[in-house]
Amino acid sequence: MNIEKFQESMYKLIVETSTKLPKDVRRAIKAAKEQENAGTRSAMSLATITNNIKMADDNVSPICQDTGLPTFKIKVPVDANQLEMKKAIYEAIALATKDGKLRPNSVDSLTGENSGDNLGGGTPVIKFEQWEKDYIDARLILKGGGCENKNIQYSLPCELEGLGRAGRDLDGIRKCIMHSVYQAQGQGCSAGFIGVGIGGDRSSGYDLAKEQLFRSNDDVNPNEDLRKLEEYVMANANKLGIGTMGFGGETTLLGCKVGVMNRIPASFFVSVAYNCWAFRRLGVNVNPETGEIQDWFYQEGENVDFAEQEKKQAEVEIAASVEATGSSSNQEAITLTAPITEEQIRQLKVGDVVKITGRMYTGRDAIHKYLMDNDAPVDLNGQVIYHCGPVMLKDGEGNWHVKAAGPTTSIREEPYQGDIMKKFGIRAVIGKGGMGPKTLAALKDHGGVYLNAIGGAAQYYAECVKSVDGVDLMNFGIPEAMWHLQVEGFTAVVTMDSHGNSLHEDVEKSSLEKLAQFKEPVFK
Ligand code: SF4
Repeated sequence: MNIEKFQESMYKLIVETSTKLPKDVRRAIKAAKEQENAGTRSAMSLATITNNIKMADDNVSPICQDTGLPTFKIKVPVDANQLEMKKAIYEAIALATKDGKLRPNSVDSLTGENSGDNLGGGTPVIKFEQWEKDYIDARLILKGGGCENKNIQYSLPCELEGLGRAGRDLDGIRKCIMHSVYQAQGQGCSAGFIGVGIGGDRSSGYDLAKEQLFRSNDDVNPNEDLRKLEEYVMANANKLGIGTMGFGGETTLLGCKVGVMNRIPASFFVSVAYNCWAFRRLGVNVNPETGEIQDWFYQEGENVDFAEQEKKQAEVEIAASVEATGSSSNQEAITLTAPITEEQIRQLKVGDVVKITGRMYTGRDAIHKYLMDNDAPVDLNGQVIYHCGPVMLKDGEGNWHVKAAGPTTSIREEPYQGDIMKKFGIRAVIGKGGMGPKTLAALKDHGGVYLNAIGGAAQYYAECVKSVDGVDLMNFGIPEAMWHLQVEGFTAVVTMDSHGNSLHEDVEKSSLEKLAQFKEPVFK
């Protein structure tokens, strides 16, 4: 094989996967957008998402800043040299990282040290399989941490919140799947796609679940029972009312694919792999002699060209959302500029749409842990902290540029957030998925707000960053460092306010009530 060409082909596959959603996923998002009632927060989120997809297309930049754990599934003719191919994939991954198409995401599990090039023990994941065909089938999925953390595995029989007993039969499996959608809430950047694996052991069950994510969203399950199950889930999961980003709304789930394998009699696992709307998986047919791409997978059927999307669409939807929710007396998004006073914060309430202009500081896991025991490198009084691990690139003159900058999952900072806000006088934190009771109490006590940005809208938010004014704590690595960002028109929704209200709590409660309607057996 021409291994240089093969490396080039793998580089193309990585860049295309990171920057362009496949057609089947685009169609699902478009259909969801058409279903959502105009003027709601969910409609605003979907407008931002479609705008973001278009920007990623145009800029050839990552759709979401979390480019996940690259996972390749490769089928090869019997005489293909897998060792050479593996080396070529490593080179392609390192180059794509250097070019800002992948975020450096591989860290030492014990020390937290970032390898900087996405290579290291266990990264990337490459699974080879031999087959009798005369071409290479190479598929790649980039699944981020926010949705990976919402995967769930059930061991039947079990008791499920809201649904009661799930037995070792098709109906028990149905209950597990409905529960998996409920437990994810908006935290995996809904609306999402799920792959379900029935049977196997704990590891092969998850493998089977992830395998389902490689199926086209439009295919029909050849197993009659599973076809009915998939259709049932698609018809009913959206009745939970969780909505995009967990803001409440009509669309919670965009796809459900179920696979089955044998198990041993003592075990009965149902494993669910949750994938966010930024469902980045593509595949190529490669010539084993020339190493060149002969065809792309998942690209058949109608193309949804988001280039037609008006650039102003998100702004229009935001304005409509503010009006519809009655969250602002002047029917315009509220502008916040740091330093923010306690009085300004106390005026905000759940549902308000805000636009931030001025300075914000990024901070995620390493920064929060650090700030608990150390002084801040900058004065954070009245400031805004953004839970974000951006993709950054340095130009030839040593200046940093933001390539992708969406929010990361906030709940990981729950042990620290309230204490840090009080210790440094921080008034607002921005992230996604909401936070827990400890932070909610601190917001009330101290006078702070939690703002939910649109998860995965990394290009949309990167464009809001007008300059990178500095960086501290670079020893934590690029995604974990504290970046000083100057932003303009950075839009987010107040989902936890200083009066003890949390939209996340409300949606979780109402979706649990709705889940109970699926308690009765459906599949006998
Ligand atoms: S869209 Fe959300 S869950 Fe998906 S990779 Fe991005 S931040 Fe993670």
